[in-house]
This record gives sequence, structure tokens and C-alpha cells, in this order.
Amino acid sequence: MMHCTLLAWSWFGHGQLTELALASAISQFALLGKNFIYSRLLKIEATDSAIEAAALGSAGFGPSEKEIDEFIEKAQFAPPSDGEKRLARLFSPVPRWVQEEDIHRGNIPKVGEYIEHDSQVRHYMRSYRDTPAQDANRKSVNYIQDHLKQAWSGMHKGVNDLDTTAFDGGVKHLASALHTIEDSYSAGHTQRQAGTAMIQDIYYWPDTGTAEGPVSWGPREPWKGHEFYDVQFHSELYAKAKVATADFILCVLKNLDQDEGVFLDECSDKIQTNFYTAWREAELETP
Ligand SMILES: [Zn+2]
Repeated sequence: MMHCTLLAWSWFGHGQLTELALASAISQFALLGKNFIYSRLLKIEATDSAIEAAALGSAGFGPSEKEIDEFIEKAQFAPPSDGEKRLARLFSPVPRWVQEEDIHRGNIPKVGEYIEHDSQVRHYMRSYRDTPAQDANRKSVNYIQDHLKQAWSGMHKGVNDLDTTAFDGGVKHLASALHTIEDSYSAGHTQRQAGTAMIQDIYYWPDTGTAEGPVSWGPREPWKGHEFYDVQFHSELYAKAKVATADFILCVLKNLDQDEGVFLDECSDKIQTNFYTAWREAELETP
């Protein structure tokens, strides 16, 4: 598991962040009274459990009841309803899928960038030392947008036609988008302004631990090392990452009974807010 030491949100960090965000999104979704989507999600969950029971001899193979309870109770004080527990079970593979986004050839230290073109787009980083931050940002935002769109399409088809294959395919795209969203809030991947969380720089991984610091956008302090920033900003950024991740999950879920346009509008609002950059602000300020 060599990846652990390389990642700002560690392997477990991604898993835990996704679990908490899912729990929060599910409890917010349950309050919306979206009965059509809710009942369809439960039907898909029932189909999954039946398949697992047939294949494995026990219903609901996967996380235990206790694990699911803990997972939801971490994010809310009221005990989860049966429906929420079933939704948590339905989405229980997502944290692992989010973690697995880190396993690819382009993530091998030193050689990855030559093996895979633009290998760091999914990690919200510069792929090459000379990649401008603006380019890195645009590519990662497009990556998030594409995967969210495919997530919504697959899950929308899944819910409306009770097509579990389409639904699962959509959920996989959701995991891809969530990984990049989470990475964008890691102090080892981007520099975000304290308080506003505006993106000020995007790093090139091999530069993040060096004394000279990464190639920077505009004036910034010399890079003090990965650990320094993670410790200093960890709690603030971790909290923001959780809210952002939950927001995007909720945005997909609550719009499964809407037209694509409604989903895309809400989704692009969230993209504007979460990936607002200093260079965009500079553009807006120039008459
Ligand atoms: Zn990553």
C-alpha cells in the first residue's frame, strides 16, 4: 500500500470522508419528502439484497448492521430510520470506489506522468511541472462535471426504469467525481484561501515537499512542506470537504426525478461555488 504515504487525504481519509458525506447526504435527502425517488431507491436496494442472498446465502452481505448504524450515527444524532439504513447499504460500496480511484499507473511516483497522459486530472493537481494552474483547474472541473453528469444519467435511468445495471454504473461515476472533489480540498493538492476556500494555486506533486516550493500562481509564501499545511488546515479543509462532498451527492439524489437541465443547472451552481479561483476573481475585477 505504497500510495498511503503519497496522498494528502490518505486511503482511509478518502474512505472516512466519503462515509460521513454519504451519511449526511442520506439524512438530508430523507427530510426532503421525495417519495418517488426514495421508494425506487429502496426497490433497487431490495433487488441488490435478493441477488446477494441468492449468491451468498445471507441477505445484505457487506457491512454489518452495526457498521451501518455507526456510519450514520457519526453524522447525525437521531438514530437512522430503516429506510436510511437501507440507503446507506445501497451506497455502501461508494467509499471503497472513491479510494480505488487512487490506484492507476499514472499515480506511480516519478514515472506515472510519462506512462499516463494528464495523469493527475482526477487528483485535482498539475499533471506536469509546466502545467499552468488554470489548465489543471479547468481539466479537473471538466472531469468532475462529466462524471457527475454520467452519474445522474445512470442513476436517473436506474430509478425511472428500475434498471439496476444503469444505476450501478451511475454510482461508479459518482465515486469518480467525489474523489476529485475531495482531493480539491486537500492542502497537499491545492492552496485554498483560509475562510473563503477560494482556490489560489494547484500543485505539482513532486514539488509539494521541496524547499523551493511548487511553481506558483502569483505571489505566495514559500512552501513549508506537506505536513505543515495538512496539520494547519486539516480541520477547516476537512470540514469543508465533507460539506462539499455531501452537497454534490445530495444534488444528484434529489434531482433523480427531474429533467437533465434542472440537475445540470444546480450542479453548475455548486461547481461555481466550490471551485471558484483567484484568477477568475482577477478576471471579474478587471473592467
Ligand atoms: Zn487522489
